[in-house]
Amino acid sequence: MPIWQKTIMLNFKDSYSLSNITTLQIGGPAKKFVTVKTEKDLIEAIEYAVSQKIPYLIIGAGSNLLVSDEGVNSLVIKNEISGISTWEEPKPISQVSVKSGTKLQDLVDYAIIHNLAGLQKLTKIPGTVGGAVYGNAGAYGQTISDHLISVTVLNPHSLTTEQFSNKDCNFGYRNSIFKKNKYIILEAKFQLEKGDLEKMQMEEKEITWKRFVKYPPGIKCPGSFFKNIIAETLPKEILDKIPPEKIVYGKLTAGALLEEVGAKGQSVDGIKIADYHANLFINSGTGTAKAFYNLAKAYTQKVKEKFGITLEPEVQLINLPPLR
Ligand SMILES: Cc1cc2nc3c(=O)[nH]c(=O)nc-3n(C[C@H](O)[C@H](O)[C@H](O)COP(=O)(O)OP(=O)(O)OC[C@H]3O[C@@H](n4cnc5c(N)ncnc54)[C@H](O)[C@@H]3O)c2cc1C
Repeated sequence: MPIWQKTIMLNFKDSYSLSNITTLQIGGPAKKFVTVKTEKDLIEAIEYAVSQKIPYLIIGAGSNLLVSDEGVNSLVIKNEISGISTWEEPKPISQVSVKSGTKLQDLVDYAIIHNLAGLQKLTKIPGTVGGAVYGNAGAYGQTISDHLISVTVLNPHSLTTEQFSNKDCNFGYRNSIFKKNKYIILEAKFQLEKGDLEKMQMEEKEITWKRFVKYPPGIKCPGSFFKNIIAETLPKEILDKIPPEKIVYGKLTAGALLEEVGAKGQSVDGIKIADYHANLFINSGTGTAKAFYNLAKAYTQKVKEKFGITLEPEVQLINLPPLR
């Protein structure tokens, strides 16, 4: 059957503004845009892109993206393939399988309700499980990969599924093999241990409050923009200059360096750096990707000049040149 007949059920949109689906609310149009809710839809969407000879880009909740004002000449596929299932291994361990388009918060809530520990510190990170695995999302010393056993992926060349063990995923700080191989994450399996419900709920509540203060409701941002720096990777002469309190969970925070070069509170063309956090770049409402990019680049250079450290974006730049 020709591809245009097979994909008739999918609702492809033309020139769809990506500012609609990024938490930063910035981004020009995608040539084509489609939301998929099943793996079959996903494969059909990819086949459609191939048949039209246009590239495709899989996204989750758009909470870690800076998309250029010109948009992308691609099919953007928004992954909403969701579902969670669990089963008891020999007690007290439980395994949980999650489809990649599931909201990370749904997984965190599910784990807490089922008294399973290991994901509760990821509470209130917006985004999908697929996006979190792609970037090895983490917070407060916990990461999505800590209790992950395996990932089912779609090989984009053969359109067949493959299994990656935790080790195969090459997880690192905000990094995974999927940033290189561009395989599509379909499902992740976790092995969680029975936890202390009261302790988990306390942790969850505390973190929710901290996040509420840092990211008030309605804030237009992609989370922290730059990655922190793993302290042990820094040369001794640089490390010696850093006050120990600036190193958190073994990382020198990008915010501390940005603060030293006066980033806090700066504002240009609708993009503001938070008064209270130098690594938080916010769209005040009229911001553009260009203004965001230029501001980020200016502060990358200032940090480089003062500390000799090249900051790397944590946020994925779409159709924009590398910052350095
Ligand atoms: C207010 C706020 C707070 C945040 N706090 C944190 C935090 O504490 N810690 C943290 O780590 N992050 C944080 N983030 C960033 C972001 O929420 C995470 O990186 C999140 O995991 C991204 O998921 P997503 O579904 O939104 O991915 P998207 O932004 O949609 O995509 C990000 C990247 O993942 C790729 N991708 C998405 N889904 C798939 C898939 N199924 N297969 C293959 N590739 C895929 C995309 O191609 C893209 O390159 C925050 C963001 C915001 C807005």
